Amino acid sequence: MPLPLPLAHVESFESGPLGCMCSIIADLHAKTAIVVDPGGDAEYINERLTALGCTLVQVIHTHTHFDHVGATPELQSAHKCICAIHEADRFLYDLLPVQAAMFGMGTPARAEMDGSLVDGRPVAVGAHELDVMHVPGHTPGSVAFFLPAGGPKGEPIVFAGDTLFQGSVGRTDLWGGDTNALLTSVKKRLFTLPDNAIVVPGHGPLTSIGVEKRTNPFVRS
Ligand SMILES: [Zn+2]
Ligand SMILES: [Zn+2]
Repeated sequence: MPLPLPLAHVESFESGPLGCMCSIIADLHAKTAIVVDPGGDAEYINERLTALGCTLVQVIHTHTHFDHVGATPELQSAHKCICAIHEADRFLYDLLPVQAAMFGMGTPARAEMDGSLVDGRPVAVGAHELDVMHVPGHTPGSVAFFLPAGGPKGEPIVFAGDTLFQGSVGRTDLWGGDTNALLTSVKKRLFTLPDNAIVVPGHGPLTSIGVEKRTNPFVRS
């Protein structure tokens, strides 16, 4: 009998100056990994990749606010990997020094960002694929990554960035933010995912699509 496809390995942890939720998604058989939103702490991320025995093949970003891209240049120079954003967020990456100054931080290092994240074009990690969903609103190029069986019991999992939080949604008062677009992205895109899908938000505790549909006061339908 053929063995079932092993689940992807997923771990999420806070990183960087504003506690951005960073995730490592790995195929432990193919020994490859991708990193989502490395806000900082490149050393810790590298330690985990070494412990997992995985090569980092790509760094992907839910959006390009400075607190989600802090460790990207270090990871890129260490691993020579592709670092990807949605092209509609490139202007924000160009504004990185302005973003950092607004939060009282020095000018950050820059990575070479590839604008290859496109709605409907999946990102592969070994035998697994993440669906890319363009969910504009928090920023014009915000995306969510959906892994159909990435949870600890094989549940679906979505990396939502700052679009959806437990009991809240992302702010829209920064460059290119759009409240109506954000609410549409949550209701018409994220809320079409299965109720049992685990939500890894850009900050704060994990939640699920079902819980947010029922209880999130910003987007209750
Ligand atoms: Zn943000
Ligand atoms: Zn954030």
